[in-house]
Amino acid sequence: MRADLLKKELEIFTFGDLLNHFPLRHIDKTKIGLIGEVNGFTDYIQVVGRLMHYEMVGVGRAKRLVAQIKDKTGMMELTWFQGGSWMEKNLHIGSDYLVFGKTGFFNNKPQIVHPEIEVFVPAKAGGKAFLEPVYPSTEKLKARALNGRQLAKLTQTLLTLLQPKDIPENLPDHLIKSLKLFSRYEAFAGIHFPTSEMVYSKALERLKFEEFFVAQIRLQLVRVQRNVVSRGVVFGKVGPHFTDFYNNYLPFTLTGAQKRVLKEIRNDTAKGRQMNRLLQGDVGSGKTMVALLSMLLAADNGFQSCLMAPTEILAQQHYHGLKELLKDMPLEIALLTGSVKAAERKRILKGLIEHTIHFIVGTHAVIEEVVKFKALGLVIVDEQHRFGVAQRARLWEKAAIPPHVLVMTATPIPRTLAMTAYGDLEYSIMDELPPGRKPITTVQRNEMARANVMGFVKEEIDKGRQVYFIYPLIEESEKLSYEDLMQGYEQVKSFFPEPKYRISMVHGKQPAEQKETNMQRFVNGDTQIMVATTVIEVGVNVPNASVMVIESAEKFGLSQLHQLRGRVGRGSEKSFCILLTGSKASKEAKERINIMCATNDGFKIAEKDLAMRGPGEIEGTKQSGALNFKLASILNDKSILELAKQKAVSLVEDDLYLEKPENEPLKNFMQSQQMKNGWSKIS
Ligand code: ADP
Ligand code: MG
Repeated sequence: MRADLLKKELEIFTFGDLLNHFPLRHIDKTKIGLIGEVNGFTDYIQVVGRLMHYEMVGVGRAKRLVAQIKDKTGMMELTWFQGGSWMEKNLHIGSDYLVFGKTGFFNNKPQIVHPEIEVFVPAKAGGKAFLEPVYPSTEKLKARALNGRQLAKLTQTLLTLLQPKDIPENLPDHLIKSLKLFSRYEAFAGIHFPTSEMVYSKALERLKFEEFFVAQIRLQLVRVQRNVVSRGVVFGKVGPHFTDFYNNYLPFTLTGAQKRVLKEIRNDTAKGRQMNRLLQGDVGSGKTMVALLSMLLAADNGFQSCLMAPTEILAQQHYHGLKELLKDMPLEIALLTGSVKAAERKRILKGLIEHTIHFIVGTHAVIEEVVKFKALGLVIVDEQHRFGVAQRARLWEKAAIPPHVLVMTATPIPRTLAMTAYGDLEYSIMDELPPGRKPITTVQRNEMARANVMGFVKEEIDKGRQVYFIYPLIEESEKLSYEDLMQGYEQVKSFFPEPKYRISMVHGKQPAEQKETNMQRFVNGDTQIMVATTVIEVGVNVPNASVMVIESAEKFGLSQLHQLRGRVGRGSEKSFCILLTGSKASKEAKERINIMCATNDGFKIAEKDLAMRGPGEIEGTKQSGALNFKLASILNDKSILELAKQKAVSLVEDDLYLEKPENEPLKNFMQSQQMKNGWSKIS
């Protein structure tokens, strides 16, 4: 019965699972608190109190057992919503009980719901502190009297039955020795029943290292084995297209970071194996030019390239921008999106098969099955996080030898996150902005001060600048935000009347063509004002735009705000980002706004974002499964992660198929894990 509950409630099936059900924390059960000390900040407490009274109250679903205990400082209420009648039989008025649980307040009185409770037996004088584990449990289990304490007893019994050989080592010997790690057996014993704080932290360290290490081994196996077995098309030479463009049409000199990344790409693509590279560049660092130069390199070697963007607007903009840059070169570029008309589509499909089209820019439409290439050699995925792994994989089917892949991220992600979520990719960073950029000044203003803000915006427009007004788009209440947007549009219009001022509006509900026309008018400078939802968020590049006003800025996440702000500050003019907020912003929202006002550095913002939201919430990593660590945290255990990665890289490079006897335990362990989890390869 209990075994069933353990299975159902905690997914504990085996002894191994029980050992892997780690305590949340330990408490020193010789420490007894006072009821009178409980306040709003008290989390868990252990008290000894005399049972004064108990009764079943309420009816139906609200039926519960309520008891009062008392120590010399006060009264506390204990409540059982489940299992009350069972509990009732075991309570004796006037007895002293040792009670432990999470405290709360009910009717201003301290209360513990479903406490752990047992008859109090005074500790022997001078008894040693005993760190008892506190396990995550569930209400149902607690109601069946299988609470944390019972779990502890079960685990303790198990541990006394087990011997070191029953918990065999999975890490290579030399690692354990050189890193002075606990053995696996010591670690499990120590994490459940530490004899001291030191033992606990050594146990924890060992298990965290193991988690990171095994995950890194997996990633490195994928990466290094792919490097060995995968074939890739060879971009062996820099030819006339690249050179001609570089010498005659490149509109600026490349930044050091752009040059470095290009060199990395050149190296990768010349080796005859498939490139899988993640390019992380802050907004405005000039990723598009890196993409174009890579495409020219592909063309020089007789291959076609495909540039994929997450939105139609961005695809269009890339297409127009690249077409303009390539206008005097003998290379054909085409745009393929969902809204391309049948005749044009037919022409493009033919051009791709016949290789009369060299570059294709598009949305997910380019990965449809009907799209076939003669010689696809390079795929660039811009603003990667919106493309799923499966979608990317479909591209591999479009060529006999898989094309090189360059993934460009929308927003920087912290290094630790990149290491875990994209650890099997090669990794480039562009942390340098083109010269001459003036830092964007970011300020927060209350909605009440809108008139002032509009006055400022007017001055900027009158100087010849262009301005964005962005409205939040919240999916669940799309209708509402649409109305907000329309209201906003009317409001902006009343401040900036036609014909002196001209406004473009772009939002998700418009047909693609209308979106494009409106966008294009803003790009051309026909309109000075762009009123939009976040469809504008990624990638859009209008260097003359110098003011970004974000309405209800408290509703946006950090990376989104940073992306939006990245739409300005792209030219040589001083740029501004104004974050308008209502007065009801939450504490976190205020913190986000403060961070935005304090820094322009996307890498710093990414770190803060990770710290505030936790790794599970960062876009694009949720589904990757790469972050399912039980004990280790990429936020708090950076140095363990770095160490684990370093050790994993050298191990895999030394023993690519884990064939050496010293790595056999690791290999076996990973295989058994794989069978258990049905692990699927991360890509
Ligand atoms: P992102 O990395 O955000 O995609 P873009 O590729 O859109 O950035 O580039 C932002 C702007 O910077 C564009 O106007 C682009 O022409 C310009 N740019 C890119 N590289 C350089 C450079 N080396 N020198 C000057 N301007 C550059
Ligand atoms: Mg871009």
